[in-house]
Order: sequence, then structure tokens, then C-alpha cells
Amino acid sequence: MNIAGKTKITGLFGYPVEHTLSPAMHNAAFEHLGMDYCYVPFLVHPHFIREAVGAVRALNMVGVNVTIPHKESVIALLDSVDEEAVFIGAVNTIVHREGRLAGYNTDGRGFMRSLAENHIPVAGKTILVIGAGGASKAISYYLSEKAEKLYLYDIDKNKLEKLVSDLMKIRKNVSALDQLARLNDFEIIINATPLGLKSEDPSPFDVSGLMPDQTVCDLIYRRTPLLQKASLRGCRTMDGLGMLLWQGALAFELWTGVPPPVEVMKNALLMSFR
Ligand code: NAP
Repeated sequence: MNIAGKTKITGLFGYPVEHTLSPAMHNAAFEHLGMDYCYVPFLVHPHFIREAVGAVRALNMVGVNVTIPHKESVIALLDSVDEEAVFIGAVNTIVHREGRLAGYNTDGRGFMRSLAENHIPVAGKTILVIGAGGASKAISYYLSEKAEKLYLYDIDKNKLEKLVSDLMKIRKNVSALDQLARLNDFEIIINATPLGLKSEDPSPFDVSGLMPDQTVCDLIYRRTPLLQKASLRGCRTMDGLGMLLWQGALAFELWTGVPPPVEVMKNALLMSFR
């Protein structure tokens, strides 16, 4: 990579950022297309998020991704925030256009693109999302737009009620589930909890009664034990790698206006896992 006077800078603001896979994905895309851009991770302590967002303007950066713990706090620092990101209450992509900073959230749309790429239709389906945190909120916004019925479940009942009541302000097909029962009623079941990040984690639900006509998705990037067991039951499965890929691909397009080289980005992600 040749950094020069005209090189356009993108990057990531997070705390921590050491383990991010995004630089590999974006820099591979820039290199493949011969674009004079680069993507740099920045370790931004929460105390300095205002200065860091100001630096996007001051240093004439093209834009940045934003990750934990800044996704919510940057909203107040931007000139505009798109409708989905306002609903979700979190921004993961900032775009700098002529001195103005616009916020977007590409996580939910990224998940939907991943479903489409895997030929998993959502329209008319009865769907269960387990977990009512930030990732659940991002995907539920889009899932509820298409699904026949969307059910949500979380061990934290306050969080569950809050998300369901937020969604019910814009949709009529969303309900909270009191307990994880009658799992065969759901055509698609999605794990949006961190359960499965650690190998010793229990399954978020009992897989033993699942039927082959059901689809199980996990937002975790790897093939979790949940997905492995669901596959053995004959279910269709999808991991979270596609969501990671597509949220990045959509951010790339927002910054550059160029269609993202998705296969190149996917290969870069897969390589960085090895
Ligand atoms: P989060 O904000 O912590 O939300 C997770 C929610 O799940 C919390 O409300 C948590 O409750 C709840 N929960 C934990 N164990 C549960 C259980 N056994 N049954 C039901 N609910 C349970 O996390 P997040 O940021 O939304 O992320 C969720 C997952 O998505 C993580 O694994 C993350 O890595 C993944 N993710 C993937 C992508 C991608 O690009 N593929 C993007 C974003 C996130 P408590 O708070 O009470 O524990």
C-alpha cells in the first residue's frame, strides 16, 4: 500500500480495536479495485470520542466505522442520522460529505443481504429472535418489515419489553415470548445472544426437537455448536460471517459510491480467521 498525499482515509473507532477484521476486508477491497484509499483502526477511549469524531472533519477523512462502545454516543455528534439508525439508536458508519457528517447503521441491512445471499426467504415467515440487545434491534427492524410474525425472547425481561414496545410503534406483527417453548412453530430461529462465543457456552435453546424444515441462524461469525447441532437435525443454518461481510460492504459503498467487491472482501475475512 502506497500512502501518498491524495490517499483517502477511512477507519474504525472502537475501544478495543485490536481484534477487528475490518481492516483486512476493506484494504483488500481498495487494493483489488486499485483505489487510493486505506482503512486504519483507531483505539478511541470513550473520553475522546468527541475529539475523534471532530477529527473526521478536521483530517478530511472519508468516513469511519464505529464499534463498541461508541455506537450510541456518536449520534449526538453528527449532522444527520438516517431513519434506521435513529430507530436502532446506534450508528456503525459515519460518512463525511463536504464538512457534514452523516450516520448510518448497516448491521441490519447486512444481515438481510446475508439471508438473501443464502436464499433464505423472510417474507411471510414466522421468526423467533433470541436476544434483545443492539444486534437484535438492528435485525428486528428489517425482519419485522417482511416477516408474517416476529417473536422476540430475552432473559432480561425489561430489555425485551422495551424492544418489543419500540418495534410495536412502527409494526403490528411483533410480540414478546415469555418462555422458549413450541420451537417448531418458528420457521426461522435466530440467536442474537453472545451464547456460543465461548466454546463452553450452553446452547441458547434445546435443539433436540428441531425439524429439518426449520432454519437456524447465529449472529456469531463462526459455526457455533448451536449451528452444528441444528445441521445434524437436518436444519438449514447460517452463521454471522455474512452479516459482518455485508455490513462492511454496505459501508464501503457509502464511503466510495463504488459497488463493493464482495468476494474479495469475503476471502480477506476468511484469510484473517486462519
Ligand atoms: P448484547 O447487547 O449484549 O445483547 C445480547 C442480549 O442477549 C442481552 O440482552 C442478553 O441479556 C441476552 N441474553 C444472554 N443470554 C441469553 C439467553 N440465554 N437467552 C436469552 N437472552 C440472552 O449483544 P449484541 O451486541 O446485541 O450482540 C449479540 C451477538 O451478536 C453477539 O454474539 C455478537 O458477537 C453478535 N454480533 C454479530 C455481528 C455480525 O456482524 N455478525 C454484529 C453485531 C453483533 P443479558 O444482558 O441479561 O445477558
